[in-house]
Amino acid sequence: MASSLTSLVNDDSRYQKSFQLFLERSSEHQCMQDFIHNKLPDILASIGNGKSHLNVIGVGSGAGEIDLEMLSELRQKHPGVTVDNEVVEPSSQQLHNYRVSVSQKKELDYITFTWNKMTASEFEAHWKEKKMTKKADFIHMIQMLYYVKDPAATISFFQSLLDKNGKLLIILVSGESGWGKLWRTYRHQLCNPDISQCVTTEDIKNILDSKGVRYQNYELPSQMDITECFTEGDEKGELLLDFLTEVLNFSKTASPELKAGVLELLRHPECSVESNGKVIFNNNLGVIVMEQLT
Ligand code: SAH
Repeated sequence: MASSLTSLVNDDSRYQKSFQLFLERSSEHQCMQDFIHNKLPDILASIGNGKSHLNVIGVGSGAGEIDLEMLSELRQKHPGVTVDNEVVEPSSQQLHNYRVSVSQKKELDYITFTWNKMTASEFEAHWKEKKMTKKADFIHMIQMLYYVKDPAATISFFQSLLDKNGKLLIILVSGESGWGKLWRTYRHQLCNPDISQCVTTEDIKNILDSKGVRYQNYELPSQMDITECFTEGDEKGELLLDFLTEVLNFSKTASPELKAGVLELLRHPECSVESNGKVIFNNNLGVIVMEQLT
């Protein structure tokens, strides 16, 4: 990452603002919801081995919107189960939002929540220190592996927590997405390997293939309207650009060459399509589902 640039994740409040705007401008959550309602039930059918109590771990849950939808499908697939749900989320604001939303939903009384305000690696250290032997039936990490130092090690640790028939679900941007193209081109300028990896499901599949780990995978079509990024000085456009580049105040701090190069690439046909005056960025997601290693 260019030394003059600061990673967006260093400013949680701006990160959360840009993430919210990204959700408004994209079909990110809609496409996940389609997957959760149409594909996830079959994936969850075989977990638990007939147990009446299931252990779930959500890593990087954000405000939990997607987690709660998955938990609802889990309950429909396994009626009558009780659920122990460990939430691993370092942002106190997000964790707070998640807790508020849970407190407003009476129907969630079959779930016991454990709130871990920590990163995935802190959770791993805490788990090992306490010599926990609990196994999990379902673990998910949705759009979070960008923020760990070593995605392969994180996957291995969480996979080791799976019980018999347990499943680990990962969602990241797809290698075919505009993000993949952006990162292949500007990895050195934009990505800070200490805190944010420019990692796609393509990279994860390559890691798993090289280790001979088996998985299922799905591609989820998704789009993001980035038109505002091309209006100089537009406040929302600047927030979206921060989100796309993961750089804090990208428009104001990047060199003119980098800024021009990124803006040009963002509307390149490998990243976006232009129609009716809108620039629509390819935000396709990839899903990887792994089972317990035997
Ligand atoms: N899963 C949610 C949120 C994705 S945003 C969704 O798809 O809507 C990424 C989330 O990962 C944020 O809530 C962020 O606070 C969290 N995060 C950042 N670094 C993390 C880390 N090292 N370990 C676990 N979670 C992390």
